[in-house]
Amino acid sequence: MKLCLLCGSGTEVRFKRQVLHQYEVSYFYCDQCGLMQTEKPYWLKEAYHDAIVAADTGVVSRNLFFQRQVAVVLNFLFDGKGCYLDYGGGYGLFTRLMRDVGFDFYWQDPYCENLFARGFSSTEAMEPFKAVTCFEVMEHIEHPLEFVTKCLEESECRTFIFSTELMQNPPPNLMRGTIIFLTPANIFHFIRKEPCD
Ligand SMILES: [Zn+2]
Repeated sequence: MKLCLLCGSGTEVRFKRQVLHQYEVSYFYCDQCGLMQTEKPYWLKEAYHDAIVAADTGVVSRNLFFQRQVAVVLNFLFDGKGCYLDYGGGYGLFTRLMRDVGFDFYWQDPYCENLFARGFSSTEAMEPFKAVTCFEVMEHIEHPLEFVTKCLEESECRTFIFSTELMQNPPPNLMRGTIIFLTPANIFHFIRKEPCD
C-alpha cells in the first residue's frame, strides 16, 4: 500500500489517468488528510520544457492578484517591515511586483533564471526573512513535508504563505465518470480541511 507523503496514513487508488498520452498513472487518495497524490512522478522531466510552461497564460494576472493579497497580509502581520523571500520565485515577477509597492522582497529558485528581480536574490538580503511566499509550487513537489521544512530552515523563518488550487471535496472519482483536468506536472492536489488539535 502506498502511504500518504503528508501524514503517513494508508491511501487508495482513486482513479487512473493517461499522462503525456503514454503513461498510465495511478492517483492515490488519503482519506485522513485529503491529499491526492500520483504514483512516483517519473514523467516530470518530459512534462517540463521550461520551468514556466507555455500553456500558463495566467502568469501575469495571477501574480498581480497575489501582489494585492500578500501586501494586505504582510501589512497586517508585520506592518510591511522587514525582508521577505519568494521561494521558487520563477522569473522574479512576484518579487519585482512586491518591491514596486515597497516591500523588501528577495528571490530564490534553483530551476529558473531571475529576469525581473536581478540584484535581489536571497543571498543579497541584509536581514533575516520575516515570511516566505511560495506560489504555484506545492502541486509540483514530490515530498511536500520535507520541502516546507527545508524552505523554513533555509530562510530561518516561521511564516510560510503559499497558494494552491483546492480540489473539490469529496474528491473526484474518474472511475465513476467524473471529469477533471489535471496537468502532467501537477502531482499533488489538496482539499480544504478544518485544522485539527
Ligand atoms: Zn494523508
